Amino acid sequence: MACLVNPAAITGRCHCGDVRFQLTPPTDMCSHCHCESCRRLHGAAFVTWTSVPDTQLQLATDPDALHWYESSPGVFWGSCAHCATRLFSRATTPTTDARTDCWYVAVASLDAPLDRAPSAHVSIEETVDWFSVNDGLPRYTGKD
Ligand SMILES: [Zn+2]
Ligand SMILES: [Zn+2]
Repeated sequence: MACLVNPAAITGRCHCGDVRFQLTPPTDMCSHCHCESCRRLHGAAFVTWTSVPDTQLQLATDPDALHWYESSPGVFWGSCAHCATRLFSRATTPTTDARTDCWYVAVASLDAPLDRAPSAHVSIEETVDWFSVNDGLPRYTGKD
């Protein structure tokens, strides 16, 4: 077992383990995204995301183990090049939906609880009709 540099860090990985990383709280946010891009790219009803500033995420793996898919100009989705688990989203062009100075991390890839619980549903207007959102959290159209 490797010693973590920062004992507060939370580790995460893809299914096969080729991509490993650690993020260091505090995180910026945590929310469930129901947009069509998240649904199709993750093969799930919605995706729960957190984000941290660039300096608070360290890859513990060869960068070549990550595959980046550009879904629209400047919007990238990071997955394991071997097992295809989707782990990250990054933006190189600022948009209303995404900042360029942080890593968006799929909470499902983490090994331990985050420093916060999900606080909202976003892009709720794109949600599927075969899943019921009934947890009482705020629901927003668009990303916030
Ligand atoms: Zn993998
Ligand atoms: Zn989304």
